[in-house]
Amino acid sequence: MALLVQKYGGTSVGSIERIEAVAENVIAYKEQGNDMVVVLSAMSGETNRLLDMAQQISPKASGRELDVLLTTGEQVAIALLAMALEKRGHAAKSYTGGQASILTDSAHNKARIKSVDNQKIRQDLDAGYIIVVAGFQGVDEESNITTLGRGGSDTTGVAMAAALNADECQIFTDVDGVYTTDPRIEPDARRLKTITFEEMLEMASLGSKVLQTRAVEFAQKHAVPLRVLSSFKQGEGTLIISDNQTDETMEQALVSGIAFNRDEAQLTINGVSDTPGVAYGILGPISDANIEVDMILQNVSADGTTDFTFTVNRSDYENAMTSLKKTAKQLKAREVSGNNKIVKISIVGVGMRSHAGIATRMFEVLAKEGINILMISTSEIKISVVVDEKYLELGVRALHEGFDLKSER
Ligand code: ADP
Ligand code: ASP
Ligand code: MG
Repeated sequence: MALLVQKYGGTSVGSIERIEAVAENVIAYKEQGNDMVVVLSAMSGETNRLLDMAQQISPKASGRELDVLLTTGEQVAIALLAMALEKRGHAAKSYTGGQASILTDSAHNKARIKSVDNQKIRQDLDAGYIIVVAGFQGVDEESNITTLGRGGSDTTGVAMAAALNADECQIFTDVDGVYTTDPRIEPDARRLKTITFEEMLEMASLGSKVLQTRAVEFAQKHAVPLRVLSSFKQGEGTLIISDNQTDETMEQALVSGIAFNRDEAQLTINGVSDTPGVAYGILGPISDANIEVDMILQNVSADGTTDFTFTVNRSDYENAMTSLKKTAKQLKAREVSGNNKIVKISIVGVGMRSHAGIATRMFEVLAKEGINILMISTSEIKISVVVDEKYLELGVRALHEGFDLKSER
């Protein structure tokens, strides 16, 4: 008998009919003899609706109160599914994050899971219950309610699977697996049968929201077998595998997938003196304002001064600009400018390690489409470019074609 953790996302529980369908699906697995733990997101649109109400009351609402509000979405979903299961004659019990003893740190809105005490759930599983856990939430040491960041129910799923030593963590969503790129942008994208944790981690952190980055990290660290599947149609989905599970005899794809992130913004400070401590002087105040910097570029001009460009999340753009303008005055910079209409497109693949010339091919493909590259960053298994947001679709599709991702390998 296997123990399965199944996580269903917002669209999968988006209506009463969908919740009834999830109940049927879960029961089918239970009746095959599996112990079932189900993790749910809020019904689709609900988290945004709650955030919008908070925004109307106060754009500066405290993280603590936001978390109390946001966790209600998941609480509605778990109660409704438990009722749907009971109606069908199956013993079920819903658990909020706190009731499931999901202990997190106190970083409201982006808390990290520290531990999960599985004792009560184990007892209920042994007594034959189907367990339904609220995703995206936990409690800190002081019993404050916390949330795990957008998309955080994926991480709850993986954490429950790790705590219970489940045979598989299955992420049910509105696509039938992980694709070579977001199928909403490129209809010719192809489902991958497997993808390595390393690649999935890059894809997720570079913007592929099909899995939350932390969920992939957690699954890799705790060796949780992880699969992405559709809640709308049958299929094997995509299995996330570790590097050493890849078949050596198979020719490794150069590029496995294309990720993109629309939430980017770029800031530039021109004409600062080219002396030690300048980078620190510019980025120190940005990091003090709790703003994460992604790409950084520094150019020394002919006149001996330096131009400094960096990117931040688009939601941090205004704050970063205010901070940078202050810094510019102190450093007697020539000028400050910015652009919040940019996006980042990345190609990802472990095959890049052993092949040269991939960056050149990427730049060639973009050049042929007349797409100007604003910034570039590379690492062992990815290359990212920043381009004007109007080129997002064109860039993704051209690269998908250029790296021959359509055809079956
Ligand atoms: P859920 O609500 O089930 O958590 P999400 O919206 O968070 O679902 O994630 C699923 C979505 O991820 C898909 O609808 C798809 O548009 C998007 N997505 C982005 N990149 C990919 C990719 N490479 N493969 C599959 N889906 C992707
Ligand atoms: N409901 C939360 C969100 O919309 C968490 C999740 O769906 O994973 O971000
Ligand atoms: Mg999600």
